[in-house]
Amino acid sequence: MMEPEPSGQTGMVAEKPTQVSILLVDDEPANLLALEAVLGKLGQNLIKARSGKEALRHLIQEEFALIILDVSMPDMDGFETARLIRERDKNRLTPIIFLTAVGKSEHEIFKGYKAGAVDYILKPFVPEILRSKAAIFIELYEKTNQVRLLNEELKLHARDLEGANQDLKREVAVRQRAEQELRVSEEKLRELNVALEQRVAERTNALEEKARELGRSNAELQQFVHVASHDLKEPLRTINSFVQLLQMKLKGALDPEAEEYIKYVVEGAHRIQQLIGDLLSYTRLGAQSYSPQKVDLEKVLDNALSNLNIAIVESRAEIHRDPLPQLVADPTYMLLLFQNLIGNALKFRDKKPPRIRITARQKDDHWSFSVEDNGIGIDPQYFSKIFTVFQRLHSRDQYPGTGIGLALCKKVVEQQGGRIWVESQVGVGSNFSFTIPIKE
Ligand code: ADP
Repeated sequence: MMEPEPSGQTGMVAEKPTQVSILLVDDEPANLLALEAVLGKLGQNLIKARSGKEALRHLIQEEFALIILDVSMPDMDGFETARLIRERDKNRLTPIIFLTAVGKSEHEIFKGYKAGAVDYILKPFVPEILRSKAAIFIELYEKTNQVRLLNEELKLHARDLEGANQDLKREVAVRQRAEQELRVSEEKLRELNVALEQRVAERTNALEEKARELGRSNAELQQFVHVASHDLKEPLRTINSFVQLLQMKLKGALDPEAEEYIKYVVEGAHRIQQLIGDLLSYTRLGAQSYSPQKVDLEKVLDNALSNLNIAIVESRAEIHRDPLPQLVADPTYMLLLFQNLIGNALKFRDKKPPRIRITARQKDDHWSFSVEDNGIGIDPQYFSKIFTVFQRLHSRDQYPGTGIGLALCKKVVEQQGGRIWVESQVGVGSNFSFTIPIKE
């Protein structure tokens, strides 16, 4: 019997089976033996049945490529057996060759065909004819089987392909969704970017406008201070010179009270002169006046100390100084800085003589300088206030000054890209520090 080969996805058409089964049905054992002898040469599996019933039993158990059926049998004749065989779905197309005696009527032959037989052989049969007919049916059976297997394989492949197709479709859908989402988020990002750029542009414009406005009002202010200071200087000079003339002319003729009044006028005029001078230097400081160059700070400090020499000697101050470096800075600015800070350290002292320490330390990308004193100290709440113009913590009688010095220091430090700050304790002393970035 031929078993259909299990067909895998990659399987080929099954190999030709070695044997198929042929069912021989005849009530006469001698006839069966004769059939066996004739068909044995085909090398197939021959199964014998002595009646229609027995034949049906075999058909239930196995598959046959061909049935050779004797027409005249006692219980159930060949036609009846063939009819029952055909009723079985499995055997609807199983070829049947009827064996019938010579001399049967046309009616019987017709009956045989109606029952689904595919051929007739008359007894006594010619062995070669029966053999070659059987061989044709066997080949047909094998071919049919091969086609069926091929068909099954094709179906399997088609199913696999369909599955792959579905997977592909799903994947394409997922990709399309992802692409769509990507497009949407790209669009959103682009819109956000545009909005952001617009906001940045607006802000920049507003800032630029503010900067221009500030620049304008700054220039106007400088112009005003310059003109005002200049215009004030003239009448001040007149006051000064005429008061001095008056002093000389009335020398000895005035009572002490009047002498004192005149002294106040001279001092007042002097203070105004100083204020105007400081204000002018403050307004002149800025980008235009900044001229960086290689500066030897040792020399700058020497100059500052020599400018302050009288105050140093008068106060019997002790000055300690670190060696100072050479660096790229504005020499006038650096002189202003050291002179103002050391000047303040000398000025804001108590009874004891001032002890001032000037230090310099190199950090990663900048130099850090400090001027430390043992003076009256500053309450921390005023640490930032004292760096603004005209901010003073004492009356002029206690400590003279215009309140511009530290504002000036802050301006020159920041102009050079550094920062300035103070650490201090009331009654102990103050330490003013500032940084100057290292430039090539
Ligand atoms: P001025 O010295 O003309 O008063 P500054 O701007 O130089 O103005 O200083 C502002 C104020 O900061 C001073 O009036 C003083 O109160 C305080 N100050 C500055 N330097 C020192 C210091 N070394 N010790 C104590 N107080 C100081």
